[in-house]
Amino acid sequence: MNQPTSTAPDTGATDALPTVVIVGRPNVGKSTLFNRIVGHQVAIVEDRPGVTRDRKEVEAEWLGTHFLLVDTGGWLPGGSELDEKVSRQVEAAVKAADVVLFVVDASVGLTDDDESVANWLRRIHAPVVVVANKADNDRRENEMWEFLGLGMGEPVPVSALHGRRAGDLLDVVVAQFPEGAGREPATSVDGIPVDEDGEQLWRPDDVPPPRVAIVGRPNVGKSTLFNRLVGEDRSVVHDMAGTTRDAIDTLVDTPDGPIVFVDTAGMRRRSRIDDSAEYYSMVRALRAIDDADIALLVIDATEGVTSQDQRLAERVDAAGCPIVVMLNKWELLDDAEQRADVTRELERKLYFMGDAPVLRISALTGKGVHKLRPVLQGAIEQYHRRVPTRDVNRVIAEAQQRQPAGHGLRVLYALQGATDPPTFTLFVNRELPAPYLRYLERSIREAFEFGSTPIKIRVRKRSE
Ligand code: GDP
Ligand code: GDP
Repeated sequence: MNQPTSTAPDTGATDALPTVVIVGRPNVGKSTLFNRIVGHQVAIVEDRPGVTRDRKEVEAEWLGTHFLLVDTGGWLPGGSELDEKVSRQVEAAVKAADVVLFVVDASVGLTDDDESVANWLRRIHAPVVVVANKADNDRRENEMWEFLGLGMGEPVPVSALHGRRAGDLLDVVVAQFPEGAGREPATSVDGIPVDEDGEQLWRPDDVPPPRVAIVGRPNVGKSTLFNRLVGEDRSVVHDMAGTTRDAIDTLVDTPDGPIVFVDTAGMRRRSRIDDSAEYYSMVRALRAIDDADIALLVIDATEGVTSQDQRLAERVDAAGCPIVVMLNKWELLDDAEQRADVTRELERKLYFMGDAPVLRISALTGKGVHKLRPVLQGAIEQYHRRVPTRDVNRVIAEAQQRQPAGHGLRVLYALQGATDPPTFTLFVNRELPAPYLRYLERSIREAFEFGSTPIKIRVRKRSE
């Protein structure tokens, strides 16, 4: 039973990965830290009974750098015969490590056991980072300075349990790897994706590729759709570090130009845990839409529009992100009645999305998915569109002629001040009533065919 246990997925390339080994006396939080680091990518860690003394290994990743993470279990140097046998294994792991995380407990302070682990690590010249765990708050964080006395460098405070500063620790860890070790072949530099040779994947004077978020409740078919989209447009797929920690974006070179799918981490892993945390998927979705130019809202047509779909749609809408609704699993609705019901329900429950495009698809069979490309392009074009000032003023003047605001109120001049989303500034002689502003917004939207793209209106007062 004392063989090393590996829970690492068989990537076939683990030999080449940098190795991080976690050591420390029992109860300092090694396993918790292990799970925390691995949890960043929602991998599954098996904790089999009877193997607690063995080392656990799993492939982990931080911002595009992959490494092998090893937990040495509740082992302490010295002691019984069994300990000696285990210790040889652990020592071998530590000697082969690129980084050794020496975990101590900030809520307890330095103990004799910590000292003996430290002596052993010094003896074998291990590349140590001292981790002051259980630094759950600022006060405890301040107490960690006594660990400086170990003479092993500045301790990094974390709370493995709450995730506090875990990202900072991983930054420190990854920085110690040999140059380029564990890096994914394609990644981004300064937000611009590069290929293996560091060549930029698109010309910097091009407009940046549109950013698309795929959102929806768990199990509606987001991953299936993502894989379908990527599979169809197969040309080239690249990973990029996302704009937020632990997010992975995917750049797909399509015949019509590159598209970035935002935060696809959860969609790309084969063995995803059952995403029981609906809350988590909501948080993740909201973060993704903040980063996106357009959202594909995936709905399971067999379940109709649920209140959770509705909530998510409201949030996406409120974030000002244009939406394309994907009614997925459409092939499972075989009778016309059922199909009409879903359509009616959609109109009723998602009325606030106006004329957002709705596509009826089967991500599983691929049916209908091809319709997305033109719709996406149209929506993205609208989002980035800039209307000449002359035309804006013409449309506003005509609208005012058709229906004056009354009481001498007038828009004197108008222009589109910004794109993404299109934002119009109206210079007025006095405050205009809200219904009238809505009327003008509608006039602009219709005249320039903005579809479902959210547009913003700003009002400035000017003397005549
Ligand atoms: P190991 O024996 O070193 O692997 O330690 P465990 O990971 O099993 O943790 C020992 C105990 O410390 C458990 O009860 C954990 O919940 C707790 N623990 C781990 N990390 C933290 C932390 O950051 N803060 C606090 N307050 N407790 C922690
Ligand atoms: P996610 O949690 O939103 O990423 O959903 P998945 O892509 O993992 O899909 C959840 C389940 O729905 C899987 O069993 C898929 O095979 C299934 N599924 C996805 N799209 C379709 C579809 O268009 N038709 C049918 N019948 N099943 C689908």
